[in-house]
Amino acid sequence: MTNRYPSSHVFYRKLTREYPRIVRGDGCYLYDDRGRRYLDGAGGAYVVNVGHGVGEIAEALACQARRVAYVSGSAFTHDAVEELAAEIAQLSPGDLDTVYPLASGSEAVEAALKLARQYWVESNRPAKHTVIALAPSYHGNTLLALSASSREQYQTFYREWLVRVARAPAPYPYHCECGGTPPHCPACSGDAIEAAILREGPDTVAAVIAEPVGGSSTGASVPAPGYWRRVREICNRHDVLLIADEILTGAGRTGTWSALEPYGIVPDIMVLGKGISGGYAPLSAVVAPRRLVDVLARGSGAFLHAQTFSHHATLCAAGVATIRYLRRHRLIERAAEMGRVLHHRLQELRSLPWVGDVRGRGLLAGIEFVENKTTRRPFPPSARFAESFAAVALDHGLVVWANAGQLTDGTGDLAMLAPPFVIDEGQVDEMVTLFGRAVEHTAAQVAAR
Ligand code: PLP
Repeated sequence: MTNRYPSSHVFYRKLTREYPRIVRGDGCYLYDDRGRRYLDGAGGAYVVNVGHGVGEIAEALACQARRVAYVSGSAFTHDAVEELAAEIAQLSPGDLDTVYPLASGSEAVEAALKLARQYWVESNRPAKHTVIALAPSYHGNTLLALSASSREQYQTFYREWLVRVARAPAPYPYHCECGGTPPHCPACSGDAIEAAILREGPDTVAAVIAEPVGGSSTGASVPAPGYWRRVREICNRHDVLLIADEILTGAGRTGTWSALEPYGIVPDIMVLGKGISGGYAPLSAVVAPRRLVDVLARGSGAFLHAQTFSHHATLCAAGVATIRYLRRHRLIERAAEMGRVLHHRLQELRSLPWVGDVRGRGLLAGIEFVENKTTRRPFPPSARFAESFAAVALDHGLVVWANAGQLTDGTGDLAMLAPPFVIDEGQVDEMVTLFGRAVEHTAAQVAAR
């Protein structure tokens, strides 16, 4: 059966649509109560990396809950948090080796920004408070994270409550005059970030926050090979902390533990979420080096971001079990390998009507729809192309993540793919075939309007 508001007591995310009722998941598939099967091409919301229905992770949660489900992070430590921190520290690049666990990506972004600010205040540089973020970008929906996000439609009702965040253009080659090829424009080279720091005044800038590879915000745009080295150098020169938002790209999604790794640089703070617990529990983490945390330890003695459910035993146990499962089954290597298969197969979508671009890395792909493939002109928002496409894809048994309005003028239509890392070649074929059919049906639907 499908459920919808108001015939149910659930306050759904969308109040005008019907929701299939999912009763079970197994690997890459979900099943509803009518026995319909869906290929989970988006891992829910880029979350389900180890696949659905992994018994040993469910067992690890139950086991921790039986031993002790929760103690306050202000009073105690426990095996689950110690083990989670050690696992993440071992996998994370450079000196990123202390871990502050929270529950959602937005909370981790808020905490990372507050950590940057507290670090500067306790370093006797209180003037450093400005945050620079890219446009487009997405960092979450709580008020500080939403302020950092460049997403007009999410901000509309809450504008009066948001804080000012300075902007630099994101590298988004498909909509850029340089097209991502050298000589790069300021946005695609990273120079735009330096321009923003200079405009604000380096002595006032606390941090630059950015997604190493674009998520929904730029539809999996991958910056040029020299981009992050340049940004790292700029941040070093101006004494600005670099925060890598790896909520979506981390935990192996792009074929390496963090998406920054292939660029060979280390951020000052990294935030993780989504895949670190595979969807088995809500979990996120701020990962920071001791050189930052020591400043707080020597100063006020605490990070002023206490939350009831930080360092949560059962959530941390889910993270430990997921990370160990990823490692034992070499699933990050598999994400890289199946990513190559996926991107090869996706190229055939380029011949379809309205498929303007196909891009990404590992098991993260963005397919951008445009009304005019020659001029790259997007659809008007009234066409609701991405939304219609996602509904048609679901009818075909394929779950995608649709995103609209990422461009600065509020236009833009993307469908994102981010399947579980256990996907095999046959399932990649099935996913791309279903995707192609859904594009053709959506095209027919839109043409008939
Ligand atoms: N940062 C990025 C890059 C994201 O993609 C998201 C969510 O999609 C967030 C932060 C916020 O995470 P959450 O929805 O868990 O609060």
